[in-house]
Amino acid sequence: MEVTLKERYCHFIGGEWVEPQGGKTFETVNPATGEVLARVAAGDAHDVERAVEAAWQAYHQSWSRTDANARGKILYQIAEIIRKNSEELAHIETLDNGKPLLESRLDMFLAAECFEYYAGAATKLEGKTVPVFGERLDYVLREPWGVVGQVIPWNFPLLMAAWKLAPALAAGNCVVLKPAEQTPLSALRFCELIGDVVPKGVINVVTGFGPEAGAPLVRHPKVKKVAFTGSTEVGRQVMAAAAANVADVTLELGGKSPQIVFPDADLDAALEGVLLGIFYNAGQQCSAGSRLFLHKDVYDPFMEKLVERTRQIKVGDPLKPETQMGPLVSREQQKRVLGYIELGVKEGAQIVTGGKAPEDPELQKGCYVEPTIFVDVQNNMRIAQEEIFGPVLCVLRWSDYETMLQEANGVQYGLCAGIWTRDLLQAHRTAQRLEAGYIWINQYDVYAYGAPFGGYKQSGIGRELAFETLYHYTQQKNVNVDLSGKPSRWFR
Ligand code: ADP
Ligand code: MG
Repeated sequence: MEVTLKERYCHFIGGEWVEPQGGKTFETVNPATGEVLARVAAGDAHDVERAVEAAWQAYHQSWSRTDANARGKILYQIAEIIRKNSEELAHIETLDNGKPLLESRLDMFLAAECFEYYAGAATKLEGKTVPVFGERLDYVLREPWGVVGQVIPWNFPLLMAAWKLAPALAAGNCVVLKPAEQTPLSALRFCELIGDVVPKGVINVVTGFGPEAGAPLVRHPKVKKVAFTGSTEVGRQVMAAAAANVADVTLELGGKSPQIVFPDADLDAALEGVLLGIFYNAGQQCSAGSRLFLHKDVYDPFMEKLVERTRQIKVGDPLKPETQMGPLVSREQQKRVLGYIELGVKEGAQIVTGGKAPEDPELQKGCYVEPTIFVDVQNNMRIAQEEIFGPVLCVLRWSDYETMLQEANGVQYGLCAGIWTRDLLQAHRTAQRLEAGYIWINQYDVYAYGAPFGGYKQSGIGRELAFETLYHYTQQKNVNVDLSGKPSRWFR
C-alpha cells in the first residue's frame, strides 16, 4: 500500500491545523531506513496554552452537555473510522515506528476495540446513593475533570493514544494529547480522519519534545487530570509537575517482568510465550517478559530450543510480510540497547545468541539489534534490574522456589508476570505472591478490555483498560439533601 504523507504537519487544536507559535519543526524518521518521513510541529508552552484553551472551551460549551449515549456513539464512530482506515494507519505506524506490519495491524484492531469497549461503557458510568442518617437523601455524582492532559510513548503509538483517549472521552472530558516525538504521525493522521465526527476542541494534539511540549501540558493549571505512559524516570517528573496543581495522575511506567517456568510446564507453550514476551515489538514494551526464571530440571532442553528458535527470527524490513522483528524505534534506542548488552558482558553474563546489530548490509541504515539472550545472569546485575526496552532476554536458572520468588519480586518494578505450570494450585499461589499488577498463567501478553492493566511498585499508579478507568477520569461530587422540611436548629 502506498501511503501519502504530508511534508509538514501542524498541531491539531480546536479542530484546526495550527502552526507552532515558535515556528519550529522537527523531523520524524523511518527507523528501518533512516529516511525522513515528514516535518512535524515542535510545540512549546504557547501551543499547549492554545490547546488547553480550546479543550476548555469545548468542554464548557458543548462536551460537558453531551449526554453519555451521544458520547458513546461518537466513540463507536471513531472505532469504525480506525477499522476502515486500518491498512493505511498500520502502514503509517510501521513507517514511523519500525514495527512489523502484522503488529501494526493488530495495534489498529486493538485500538478500534478499545474505543468500542468505552463506547459501550459510557452509558454505564453511574453514581450512587448513600444511606445516611436522618431524613436525608445523599447521592454521589461522577463528573468529568474537564480538560485532561495525556502524554504517550512511541512503542504502540496509536494504541496507547486509544487506551487514553477512549476512557477520557467516554467519561466526558476533553483532551490534549502529546504523542512521542519519535512517532507522531499515526495520531496526526487519526485527527485528520476523525475531524467530521468529533466536535472541535474535544481532541487536541500538540506534537513536540518532552521538556518543551510535554512538561507545560502536565503542569498546566487547567489540567486537573494527567495520564502518562513512559519511563519511570519521566513518570516521577510528571507526577511532581502534576502535584503543583494537585492534579490527579495515572502513570503506566516501566517493567522488568519475570516469566517463571516450572519443571512440569507445557514447555512448547512456554517457549512460544517466552519468545512472544520478549521479542514482540522488538522487546519495546513495558510488559516485556525480560527475565526468564527457568527451572534447573528443564533448563538444558528448554534453552536449546529457545536459542534455536531465537536464531530463526526473521529480522528485517518491517514492511515485508515475512519479517518477524523490525528495527528499534530510533538510533538512540539502538545505542541504548547495545550499551546494555555491552554492560551485561562486563557484568559477567554470557551471550548465547545475538548481542549486536545485524551484519546484513541491507540492514545497516536501520536501527536493528539482533534478538539477544543472556545466560548466567545474577538478579542483582544491572541488566536484570533495569528496563532495557529492547530484544534482550536475561535467563536465570532456579531450583529453590522461595529464592526464585524473592528474586522475581526483587526489582523496583511490578508490572507483569508469566507463570508456566500444569499445577494450577501452584500457579494461583504463585500469582498471589508475585508483586505485579497483571499476571498471565500459561500465556503471555494477552490483554482483555475490562481487565485492569497497571503496575505495582514503581511500574505505576492507576489502572487502564478497565471499567474502573472511567473512575480515574471522573471526580466525585456528593450532594446531601434535607428531606425533613424542618429547619435544622443549631443556634437556639
Ligand atoms: P523514552 O525514554 O523511552 O523515550 P520517555 O518516558 O522519555 O520514554 O517518553 C515518553 C513520553 O513522555 C514522550 O511523549 C516524551 O516526549 C514525554 N516526555 C519526556 N519528558 C517529559 C517531561 N519532562 N514532561 C512531560 N512529558 C515528557
Ligand atoms: Mg519516527
